[in-house]
Order: sequence, then C-alpha cells, then structure tokens
Amino acid sequence: MKFQPHHKESLVSLDEAVVFLKANQPVAIPTETVYGLAAPISSEEGLKAIFEIKARPFFDPLIVHIDQYDDVFSLTSFWPQEAGLLARHFWPGPLTLVVEKSSAVSNLISSGLSTVGLRMPLHPMMRTLISRCGPLAAPSANKFGKTSPTQAQHIIEEYQGLLPVVDGGPCSVGIESTIVKIESSHRITLLRSGMISQEEISQVLLEHQIPFQWQNISEKYNTEISPGRMKHHYMPRVPLVIYDPQRETKQPRISEFSHDLLKEFYLQCRAQIPDSVEGVSLVKPENIKEVHELLLPSSPALAARQLYSLLRETPPSADLILCNGLQIPKTSSWEPIWDRLKKAATLVWS
Ligand code: AMP
Ligand code: MG
Repeated sequence: MKFQPHHKESLVSLDEAVVFLKANQPVAIPTETVYGLAAPISSEEGLKAIFEIKARPFFDPLIVHIDQYDDVFSLTSFWPQEAGLLARHFWPGPLTLVVEKSSAVSNLISSGLSTVGLRMPLHPMMRTLISRCGPLAAPSANKFGKTSPTQAQHIIEEYQGLLPVVDGGPCSVGIESTIVKIESSHRITLLRSGMISQEEISQVLLEHQIPFQWQNISEKYNTEISPGRMKHHYMPRVPLVIYDPQRETKQPRISEFSHDLLKEFYLQCRAQIPDSVEGVSLVKPENIKEVHELLLPSSPALAARQLYSLLRETPPSADLILCNGLQIPKTSSWEPIWDRLKKAATLVWS
C-alpha cells in the first residue's frame, strides 16, 4: 500500500501507519514531547526519506525510540552503569541518552558519529508502533530549523496533506527531550535541556552514590559533539524578538517593554541580520504592519506544553512576534523554555 496524498487531510490509523512504516514510508507519529517523523532503524530507504522530507542535513543525527529496556543491549556497544540507572528512573519519558552505538545502528542514524541517542517514549500510540515495527528512528516532524509540531494539525498544515500522520492528540510535554551524553569514566554532558532537569539527573546519581562529573561544552566543540545544536532552531513563520535586558548592557536602554520600541529595534537591526545561519534561513520582513505578543502561561510545565502551539498560532496578519522576557523567570525550571525561545528568536534585546 502506498500513501495517497490528500489535500489538507492525511490522518492514518495505527494499522495503516504500520503498513506504511514496513513499506519504508516515513509516518508522522505522536510522542509525549513533540510529533516525530519515523522510520524503522533497519529501513535505509525510510531513513533517507526522513532527511529528504524534512530537508534535514545528513550531519544531524536521529534519535532511536525503543519500547523494551533490553533493546539497549543490541543497540549499544557499551551501556554504562549511569545510563542504566537514569533509564530505569526516567523511562518511559522525555530523556534521551547518548551512548556508544553498536553496528545495529547505521551511520545514517548517527550521522557518522560513534554514538547513538536512545529514548523510550511514554505515548501509548508510539509504543504500539514500536512494538509492531521494531525500534523507530525519529527526529521532530517539522521542516529543518522550524518550530516542532505538537498537534497532528500542525503537520497537516506544514506538509499540506502530503505526509501520513497518526493523530495522538496534543503532546503533553510539548518540547523536545532532555539529551544527556554518557561516557566511560563517569563523564556526563547535557547536550539539550528539557523538562527533566540537570538537578533531577544529578539527584538520582547522587542517591545511588555513583560518582559523576558534568562536562561543559565549549562553543568551539558545540556542533562537533552534537551536530544538531544549531544557533537557530524552532523558528516561527515570522521573526521573534525577545526583550531581555541584562543589568550590564552596552545596548541603549529602554525603560520598559513596548511594542513600538521593539518594532523600531527590529527595523534598525534588520540590515545586519544574515539571510541564513548554519543552513537555517531567517525571515526578514521589510515593513511591519502588525505585531503579536507571545504570552506564556505562568507555570513552566504549561508554558512548555503550549509554547510551540502559541508560536504557530500567531495571527496570519502579524509580521513580527514580540516576547517580554521580563515576564519569564530565570529559574532552572524555566531554562529549557528559555533555550527554545532564544533559538527561535531572530533578535534578542539583551
Ligand atoms: P530532534 O529529534 O530533531 O529533536 O533532534 C535530535 C537531536 O538529538 C539532534 O539534533 C542532536 O542534537 C541530538 N543527537 C541525536 N543523536 C545524537 C548523538 N549520537 N550524539 C549527539 N547528539 C545527538
Ligand atoms: Mg528537531
């Protein structure tokens, strides 16, 4: 069976999704973090198609999703004690563990790295698909650099009905998983923040008296260690400008957040904004007719759940999104939201 594109309507059942996945056709699938675009790890044709559909560069590795703990042993060449402990504590859930891969993981998945990112998702539909098709490699289902989808409708709109989508409802977490790399000699590195925090991870390791040391990623090795760590990511349809004045600033100060002043700031900076950064193109409207203010809920869990939907729900008439950073706390539970906002932003007034 081959997927027949429908204009604006491309929902498929779990049974149909299994048939497409087994026939090497990627399917957009729900997880609790964001919607992914999946293919079985053994399907070279399906994996290649994921990169083509997303316009994702081959240097950006895919996460492998499993539904049985024992799969880690066939997918890795070394499964550190720390990884076992964190997996048993946080899986199924929004934590990806990067460890040394086995030959069962192709270079297409790992982008030629010696490691693989593994996660056991919680979403029951995704679990059913994995149990019927085997481990699934799946990046987020958005086009490269764009906002991740958190509802089936986001994918139908983005791909105009050309991609089969399993509708699993709105994602409960709403932002991508926390990614932690675990090496031998107790070195661990936070590659991407997420709703499972660095403190929670430390606490689990401490409770079990496992020695560990967090490694810092220097700017220089940023993309070598984890190629998907781009400066711009999650970008909405129109530029996002964040007002986040720091105490020690060299920028001209504005006394308070104002739509007009931020619009002026964007227009003044516009000429200096590059057309693209690391392969992600930046949208730069010349005239701003309407601005839209991004307003986030006051709890971090709700803000994460709604962030991408709110960015996508920018009114079609608006050509600039503004965010008042002073309204968003600088505490550790808001860190992953700040991370996504800063990467989605074209400009930050800091
Ligand atoms: P996505 O699934 O689109 O949210 O992105 C997956 C991200 O996980 C990539 O962009 C990388 O930053 C990271 N990742 C996946 N596998 C690895 C790996 N083997 N080593 C380092 N980072 C990885
Ligand atoms: Mg992504």
